[in-house]
Amino acid sequence: MRPFAFQKMNNAAEALKDKKAEAQFIAGGTNLVDLMKKHIAQPEALLDVSSALPKDIAVSGRGLLIGVMARNTDLTLNKDILARYPLVARAVLAGASPQIRNMASVGGNLLQRTRCPYFYDVSTPCNKRKPNSGCGALHGAERMSAIVGYNAQCVTVHPSDLCVALAALDAEVKIMTREKKEKSISFRDFHKLPEATPWKDNTLPENALITHVYIPENPFHQHFAYLKLRDRTSYAFALVSVAAALHLENGKITAARLASGGVAHKPWRWYEAEEFLKGKAPSAEVFAGAAERVVKGIKPLAGNAFKVPMLKGAVETALENCITQESYKQ
Ligand SMILES: Cc1cc2nc3c(=O)[nH]c(=O)nc-3n(C[C@H](O)[C@H](O)[C@H](O)COP(=O)(O)OP(=O)(O)OC[C@H]3O[C@@H](n4cnc5c(N)ncnc54)[C@H](O)[C@@H]3O)c2cc1C
Repeated sequence: MRPFAFQKMNNAAEALKDKKAEAQFIAGGTNLVDLMKKHIAQPEALLDVSSALPKDIAVSGRGLLIGVMARNTDLTLNKDILARYPLVARAVLAGASPQIRNMASVGGNLLQRTRCPYFYDVSTPCNKRKPNSGCGALHGAERMSAIVGYNAQCVTVHPSDLCVALAALDAEVKIMTREKKEKSISFRDFHKLPEATPWKDNTLPENALITHVYIPENPFHQHFAYLKLRDRTSYAFALVSVAAALHLENGKITAARLASGGVAHKPWRWYEAEEFLKGKAPSAEVFAGAAERVVKGIKPLAGNAFKVPMLKGAVETALENCITQESYKQ
């Protein structure tokens, strides 16, 4: 590993002031340190923000404000999350291992890099690791790759589980810029598609810090499910995942949310299927209709066509689980 300086930061303002272009913030270190060991990230200095940023989780206004240094495990134990935003806990529990979740911060989870094997293999081209070098996965081993929103520049997927739930719940990412301006970015706009700049995963401005994630109040605490399909039943990234949430009144679906991981460069919302569900009574036929709308028109790569029927089945099952599985006991 290349030698680097290490500085512990006391607060956000100090971290923003001290951040040079060659330095990187470090939170739990569960992603960044791996990248440094593999010579993919080579910062000259690490600015440790783990004691500098908020970690409280609290009801705020009409929603929930999560301090960015809350550990992933905290999201699975917090009473307000379990009672009002349980989809978040379900998604987090589907990821990584207890030890990693104990270290991993919310901010680090949002900003974790891709798990594409070509990104990690420095002997192969990867536009995300080395701009304009090409995409090894495009005609390579593309089993894990995207089925929507990709282009010839990059076919990788965003690896997070938490982010799929946050996308479904219309979360917002609160940031502080270098100029100490506080801003809010809607989750929909936070992660980006590869477009012409696949090396950029998100729209966080250079040198800015995430301070909080906000989840607006929602009615999805009774009927929700997170289904993650993968090669092993634990400690593996999603081939396909589905966050589903329904609100029912008088036996009819009045609001629906559907999002997926493992399918695109960003957590992906299925808006057409959500609209289709509204106003209908839940049934196997209705859920199959929603799943049809999800997969309609998807053009997978040569090596990952299996993801399309897998996604269709996952959507149907997740929606059924919304109705049949119990919510968290309060
Ligand atoms: C073996 C393994 C399996 C895993 N499996 C899963 C899984 O199944 N599902 C899943 O979702 N995740 C999984 N993960 C990923 C894990 O959740 C992430 O590594 C973790 O969330 C990163 O958080 P961190 O605090 O350790 O980030 P760090 O490694 O400290 O930082 C990651 C990046 O975020 C930046 N950063 C951190 N905090 C801030 C901030 N507040 N503002 C600005 N920049 C910031 C850092 O500069 C760095 O670029 C797995 C990880 C490992 C190692």
